Amino acid sequence: MGAMLRLRMISCGDTVAMLSGYVDEDLDPKVYDVIKKHLEGCDNCRAVFDSFTKTITIYRQLPEGEVLEEVHIRLTEYLKKEITSEEGNP
Ligand SMILES: [Zn+2]
Repeated sequence: MGAMLRLRMISCGDTVAMLSGYVDEDLDPKVYDVIKKHLEGCDNCRAVFDSFTKTITIYRQLPEGEVLEEVHIRLTEYLKKEITSEEGNP
């Protein structure tokens, strides 16, 4: 009873931390169920879960080399923006 109660009161942080296991269905069925219920009742975690699964779906569709290139492009763009915004500041 005590353990069940604790699992039912899983926090958003715990839910997000276990999302990758949840997506892979690599969790204890009881934990999986608790996270599923939490996602059903928590808009916050559902939003995180949605973007998480979308990202994973996209990455799994791409061959490994393209994923690396995509990450590299994003990183380069991010750094460019960082540099540009710093230069733009007075
Ligand atoms: Zn939550």
